[in-house]
Amino acid sequence: LIEVHGVHKTFGTVEALRGVDLTIRPGEVVAIVGPSGSGKSTLLRAVNHLEKVDRGFVAVDGELVGYARRGDVLRELPEKEVLRQRTRIGFVFQNFNLFPHLTVLENVTEAPVAALGRAPLEAEAEARELLDRVGLADKAGVRPRQLSGGQQQRVAIARALALRPSVLLFDEPTSALDPELVGEVLRVIKDLAGTGTTLVVVTHEIAFAREVADTVVFMDRGVVVEQGPPARVLEAPENPRTRAFLEKVL
Ligand code: ATP
Ligand code: MG
Repeated sequence: LIEVHGVHKTFGTVEALRGVDLTIRPGEVVAIVGPSGSGKSTLLRAVNHLEKVDRGFVAVDGELVGYARRGDVLRELPEKEVLRQRTRIGFVFQNFNLFPHLTVLENVTEAPVAALGRAPLEAEAEARELLDRVGLADKAGVRPRQLSGGQQQRVAIARALALRPSVLLFDEPTSALDPELVGEVLRVIKDLAGTGTTLVVVTHEIAFAREVADTVVFMDRGVVVEQGPPARVLEAPENPRTRAFLEKVL
């Protein structure tokens, strides 16, 4: 469960988010689409407290992200607590962000052992299962630079899953990939749909959004302009800004 309530975020004079409200149900698959600069990444980063919001709040599974409430005041959580929260809120970056000096297997086992204190052998067994699930069982011992972009991104997804997050956020997970590698990554994300993990995917892949998302959210100029099932938002958008955007990208 993700609750975004009245979120504002300004960078200097740029109002990246101008009052965003959004509720995402447990297990829901949400695609966020919209023009460049509309605030999609900022919103996703705010959910994970990678970006501190100026106003409003984000809660995941009923817990405020980045803050604790004491009476009427919000107190910022210490970094350690934020890191604990982030183990429940996975993030998959556009550029994979794998640890280059670690093997694929070590990339996947590092966080569960370091952040959650899992037993190394147990974490390794689970990591091998996850690598199998993303089709990379045979790559456990190699370093990220020996992999294609699509393979690296699949490792990044396995690494995020290793923390058994309740929510997984993807910021344009395929936009750094050569076209022929996009499908393999989208397939892995599609396989995660319906497994109980809440998935929020910022994407330019409209066909993917139509096929996989329960809900499509269209953002423009720092606000959610329209949201609903793909059949409605993508096929019969009500808002002229949504229509204009879709005419350009489809
Ligand atoms: P894109 O599709 O190009 O990734 P986006 O919808 O993800 O765009 P954001 O990255 O959220 O858009 O940016 C929203 C606005 O905030 C933009 O005008 C951007 O220039 C600005 N912005 C985002 N991050 C920063 C930052 N760290 N410093 C200054 N301005 C920023
Ligand atoms: Mg972005």
